[in-house]
Amino acid sequence: MASAAAKSPFRIVHTVCSHDCPDSCGVRVTVDGSGRAVKVQGDPSHPVTQGFLCGKVAKYLDRVYAPDRILYPLRRKRGAPKGPQPRGREHESFERISWDEALDAIAARLKQTADTHGPESILPYSYAGTIGVLGFGSMDRRFFHRLGASQLDRTICSEAGGVAWNLVYGKKLGMPTEDFRHAKLIVAWGANIHGNNIHLWPFIEQARRNGARLIVIDPYTTRTAALADWHIAIRPGTDGALALGMMHVILREGLEDRAYIAEMTHGFEQLAERVRDYTPERVAAWTGMTPAEVEQLAREYATTQPAALRLNYGVQRSENGGTNVRAICMLPALTGAWKHRGGGAVLSTSGGFPWNKKAVERPDLALASPLKRLARVVNMSTLGHALTELGDKAEDGPPVRALFVYNSNPGAVAPNRNAVRRGLARPDLFTVVHELFFNDTTDYADYVLPATTFLEHTDIQGAYGHYFVQLSQQAIEPPGEARPNVWLFGQLAQRMGFTEDCFRDTPEELVRQALGISPETGHSTNPGMEHITFDDLKREGHIPLAFHRDPEKQPFLPHVSGPLPTPSGKVEFYSETLAAQGLDPVPGFVPPAESRWGKTAEQFPLEFLSRKADNYMNSTFANLDGHRKMEARKSNILEMHPEDAQARGIAEGEAVQVFNDRGSLRLIAHVNGSVPAGVVAAQLDWAKLSSDNNNVNSLTSERLTDLGAGATFYSTLVQVTKE
Ligand code: SF4
Repeated sequence: MASAAAKSPFRIVHTVCSHDCPDSCGVRVTVDGSGRAVKVQGDPSHPVTQGFLCGKVAKYLDRVYAPDRILYPLRRKRGAPKGPQPRGREHESFERISWDEALDAIAARLKQTADTHGPESILPYSYAGTIGVLGFGSMDRRFFHRLGASQLDRTICSEAGGVAWNLVYGKKLGMPTEDFRHAKLIVAWGANIHGNNIHLWPFIEQARRNGARLIVIDPYTTRTAALADWHIAIRPGTDGALALGMMHVILREGLEDRAYIAEMTHGFEQLAERVRDYTPERVAAWTGMTPAEVEQLAREYATTQPAALRLNYGVQRSENGGTNVRAICMLPALTGAWKHRGGGAVLSTSGGFPWNKKAVERPDLALASPLKRLARVVNMSTLGHALTELGDKAEDGPPVRALFVYNSNPGAVAPNRNAVRRGLARPDLFTVVHELFFNDTTDYADYVLPATTFLEHTDIQGAYGHYFVQLSQQAIEPPGEARPNVWLFGQLAQRMGFTEDCFRDTPEELVRQALGISPETGHSTNPGMEHITFDDLKREGHIPLAFHRDPEKQPFLPHVSGPLPTPSGKVEFYSETLAAQGLDPVPGFVPPAESRWGKTAEQFPLEFLSRKADNYMNSTFANLDGHRKMEARKSNILEMHPEDAQARGIAEGEAVQVFNDRGSLRLIAHVNGSVPAGVVAAQLDWAKLSSDNNNVNSLTSERLTDLGAGATFYSTLVQVTKE
């Protein structure tokens, strides 16, 4: 007799949430006999996912089967102007065409552009709309290298922090998420764990049940801050000053770990000399804390073990963000917190996943391009400049004539949005967008191509919040004619006449290449992944990295033994690399030029935080009614301190104009205690869903961070007036 399971018309497929989130959840998708996904569920066997999904993804099928999903290739109708279209009427500007027509036309236009203006006049623009290895960067990279298109420096989110961390530790490795349960003190620094890293929360709760305290350092009262034992609302961009002040107190009171410092660190004397100036009084004046609070924080941090520090990327989106991260991530090296299970810090765990990127991305194909070299690099955080000014100077190379957007929505998320918009509206700019929904970028596209969700393609994924390799298997056929990135760029390559075999690789072949699978042994050859085979991964769904295979017997304690992959082989308090570049080798605090200490503060006195919504992923999910309902209280709202509102005669619920010399937007004042005096906050949303077709990035600038040339969303000054 056949078992009940054998008769079941349902099958369960292991996938991985590929949204830009540290948790990289294992997701079980139930598919019915007709091939339709009927349920998504967190993988209960995944030690970090623990069987649950966040509010953004729990109802993911609303997104997969949304009635307004783009399902077919579209071409802008002749005469239809580029620019914002009312929601629900965007299709009126486009006509449906076949994939053959779309691919032929796009390939022909790219060829013509490359021949006429040089291939570097073509700019790919993508980021972490999907963070699977294949979806994020594989066939697309091959395609653009072979074409000779400009390379994109993908700096918009995490580059400053990543560079900073690597200057100190050499590799982005931090304490495992699961080990937070052993902590006695948890400091969430610029980390809204409850909003954006929810799978860490159960481990924090467990630690708190065992007596741990949670301290949150964040200028904004996030959900996480509201749940803390102590919320320290410092002023934006002053994090580095606070870290240096903590070090001052730690050293003054002899609370450092001399043995760890002697064995594992480089440049202690220089650091000690530097922090001598960072007295609690000076630090209090910058941060808005009292000197006693600076001392209390330093003492509590240094004398409680294990002390875990969850640092997140908000800290580094400031002009001085790289240095701020450098200073903060030195704290556990000063106190020896790394030595304790449940102690140390984590910014990202991505350094644990050494994918074979050369094989996947094939930068060598650039030698076969007309340039016969790697192309110029354009920073994505200065897209407005790239589309409106690049090419003005001879040394720039050609202006951008064609833009190919995928995995991103720059019309909403790129800083200095008015410049970006001017660029996108250029009549001579040819723009292709590969997307799931009409958004602030498709409004400017010549062609819109239908993209897939993670349920509809195969991928392999690591994480930046845990240490498990996961295979995401295709669960359902893409609806309509949606196609994944790998297919799109493979097809385009063939239309361009690129004859290299690699453009015909299947997703499984790409996964094997990413893993560096040896044809002889069937095992990965990537360091730390040698125990992984493709078949095991297919069967298990997730497999831990080698150093995290048996955490109970052999807990992973990063940075407790050398040599580390830094020039000195040690944790670097002092960086020769920075010294050689003429930069400050030891972190010091320099307030952002665009802050209350800057020249423009007289004209624009309020520091503006362009926040991310808890229920959106940057601009993803913001079009879904269910998600919008969850954010209704915060949409189109400017959060203000009562002092700032009163000084401007603004009352709760009144319409206000928020402006600076880059742009303005209309919001409704919400006078509450969520920000300190002198700071205002509003959250990122789609411009086309606002009352004035505008969003927070009309106010943000293209100025870059001190390290890593990243975006400085949180160094923005504004003025606010009653409408
Ligand atoms: S967005 Fe993050 S928390 Fe939510 S399901 Fe995806 S990986 Fe998990």
